[in-house]
Amino acid sequence: MNKTIKNIPEEKCTGCAACYSSCPANAITMKYNSEGFLFPFLDDSMCINCGICLKRCPEKEVDKLLESLQEPINCKAAMVSDDAIRLKSSSGGLFSAISEYIISQNGYVCGAVYSDDYRTVMHVLSNNEHDLIRMRGSKYVQSSVGDCYIEIERVLKNGNKVLFSGCPCQVSGLKSFLHDEYENLYTVDIVCHGANSVFAYQSYIDEIAKGRQIESVNFRDKSLHGWSTPVTIRYTDGTMDDYPYHLSKWNDGFLNGIINRKCCATCHYAQKRRVGDITLGDFWQVQKWDESCNDGGGTSLVLINNSKGLYLYEHIVPLLKLSKEAPFEAAAKYNGQLNRPQKMAPGRKYFFKHLSSKGYHNSLWYGHEWRYDFGLVGWWFASNYGSVLTYFALGKILLDMDYLPILIRIPKKDGTPWEKITEKNIEFMAKHFYISKERTFDKMAETNVFCDGFLLGSDQLWVDWYKDLVGHIFYLAFADEKKKKIAYATSLGRSDFQTTDREKITISMLLRRFDAISVRETSGVNICKERFGIDTLRMLDPVFLCKKSHYDKAADESNLIFDEPYVFFYILDLTEEKKKMVHAIEKALMLKAVVLLDMRFEIIDDAIREELNIISNATIEDFISLIRNSAFIVTDSHHGACFGLIYEKQMITICNDRRGATRFESLFQLLKLEKCLIKENQLEQYDYQRDYQNIDYSEVNNILENEKVKALSWLKEKTIAKHDTSLTEEDVFSDYVWENEKRI
Ligand SMILES: Cc1cc2nc3c(=O)[nH]c(=O)nc-3n(C[C@H](O)[C@H](O)[C@H](O)COP(=O)(O)OP(=O)(O)OC[C@H]3O[C@@H](n4cnc5c(N)ncnc54)[C@H](O)[C@@H]3O)c2cc1C
Repeated sequence: MNKTIKNIPEEKCTGCAACYSSCPANAITMKYNSEGFLFPFLDDSMCINCGICLKRCPEKEVDKLLESLQEPINCKAAMVSDDAIRLKSSSGGLFSAISEYIISQNGYVCGAVYSDDYRTVMHVLSNNEHDLIRMRGSKYVQSSVGDCYIEIERVLKNGNKVLFSGCPCQVSGLKSFLHDEYENLYTVDIVCHGANSVFAYQSYIDEIAKGRQIESVNFRDKSLHGWSTPVTIRYTDGTMDDYPYHLSKWNDGFLNGIINRKCCATCHYAQKRRVGDITLGDFWQVQKWDESCNDGGGTSLVLINNSKGLYLYEHIVPLLKLSKEAPFEAAAKYNGQLNRPQKMAPGRKYFFKHLSSKGYHNSLWYGHEWRYDFGLVGWWFASNYGSVLTYFALGKILLDMDYLPILIRIPKKDGTPWEKITEKNIEFMAKHFYISKERTFDKMAETNVFCDGFLLGSDQLWVDWYKDLVGHIFYLAFADEKKKKIAYATSLGRSDFQTTDREKITISMLLRRFDAISVRETSGVNICKERFGIDTLRMLDPVFLCKKSHYDKAADESNLIFDEPYVFFYILDLTEEKKKMVHAIEKALMLKAVVLLDMRFEIIDDAIREELNIISNATIEDFISLIRNSAFIVTDSHHGACFGLIYEKQMITICNDRRGATRFESLFQLLKLEKCLIKENQLEQYDYQRDYQNIDYSEVNNILENEKVKALSWLKEKTIAKHDTSLTEEDVFSDYVWENEKRI
């Protein structure tokens, strides 16, 4: 059995280094992960599986850890008398008072300092006054404790007093490492808003410094802004950058949970009960409790948590000009971290995904989810269950690939609104994705400002007559040259594309700007080649690529419940033959019919509605639920068939000529299910007992799985690939275009 630190999941590890410090085989090293946080890395070849690393991990037994936290016995508002020290301290300067006392007792202090080049923060153990000055002031970057715990143990065993001051998880790590109680150890835990990434910090200062050599970094410069949290960076050439609290982009990432370590979002110590003997923090808004406790120069919040804490505090009282007992609630009211941990920003992962390539300031946009990897373009709002679901699928696929998509609203060229019914689809999509605001046709290029690239979806987008409706939006004409452009399984819907030669040239030029194009039907591959001179690949409809669990989750939201098994008819174009079929299939299968029509098509006649058991106003969630819970399906819809296949239903599929037969034929040929597809003109003669063909899902699923793997790897490859912005005019106006233009 593995008894090592590997048992602790990444999101729980605080990086306290208790495991590293306690390993008797030196098998653990602390290394930065890709986000810039230190984690233990275990060398298996050196590990003796003794289990000590795991035993010393404070996260191993959280219940025990929580039990060991102490309820404060006293709460104070305090300030040191020496204003020069307070000016250099973050709050009321209490740390300096306590550490001076320990040094005066021949003791040692361990606290956080910047490295000489200001690129990292680390704990040092020292008994000299110069280092105390370096320890003074909050550095809002996670510090590395290095070998401090080991050195502290040595000094404690020599009988010297030691003061350890750091984040609560570091105090906890030290205590866990030492295991034994030491009378001569004193601990200060600070109220902590979160430990920030070193890589984020390095990128942040590099972007501001722009090559200048840093002389100092200060996250609490009182000399310019009083008691607040500004950032000032001074340089050896005498220049300075200064960001007050509200303009500090570091605060933006820090206080919004974008750049904190993952475990900070579930921090056990962000509460009233404390791990250190004394807790220090800012007594924010102290004036609301007692005006006399605020002079604008910083007031410390002090929580005295046990007898050791009381001993320390009593010995520094002579160094204080303010020491006033305060209700804990007055401090906790304006100090979130005494109540609960900082929430992790949902966009945190996008910040770190972009940090190394785009740098701190740009990555913040992704962290806030104000900038997107891809703008999704297409009929994601159309009054059609299948259309909406292809974009739902594509959006979920992108999210599962750790991309952040935004759905781009499409305006009509003539400025008139889309049908009212589309609003409920927009509402559905808004539950799952970001949606851009409405823009007029001429403002579409604004979307380049917040999208890194554009992904054109599936379903029918390249249809000849759409030009009058939406111009060249579905050819991404509004997208900037610098933006990545991908078409995934885009459908042309029909088996031909009739247009003028000039329009063909325009389309050809626009398609040449794409980084990659795949289409949904084999006929589409041919049209793209013959009409536009573009090579494309056929790819599976995105609804097959999306994890079924996403559909299930949506379907669980449906309120439609049927007590009896039913045969589900999803009929886009209701004809007399199809009406007859409803009754015939009901009879043959001895199942009640539940009928859903085209979203746009409301049956007015109550008699027909009743006769066929037609469902009204079904939502997208209802649609998936109706398919999932059905015993059998009959459909003349391509996506009705797709979802039947996804839920492995037995079904009758009617090849709907009116909507374009090619998409049915392409899919059913691919899945070797041609025999299961009925032509509209065969409906009248259709006899279930004689003509019905069962679907063998073992073979279908094999083909789908292969196609899915192929499609996902294509999408991955094309989305990762670097975008080529070097497209010249000659590339766009290729031979094909010129040859065709000559014919005009
Ligand atoms: C990352 C971080 C988040 C904080 N969040 C809050 C908060 O939400 N609310 C609040 O009231 N107070 C917070 N504080 C504490 C506050 O900023 C002051 O550190 C505290 O009030 C002590 O101030 P002081 O005037 O007594 O002494 P100072 O001289 O300002 O305190 C310096 C002490 O802080 C320690 N320290 C500095 N940087 C680090 C670091 N990166 N890691 C570990 N220890 C460090 C030093 O070791 C030293 O002991 C935070 C501090 C840090 C470092």
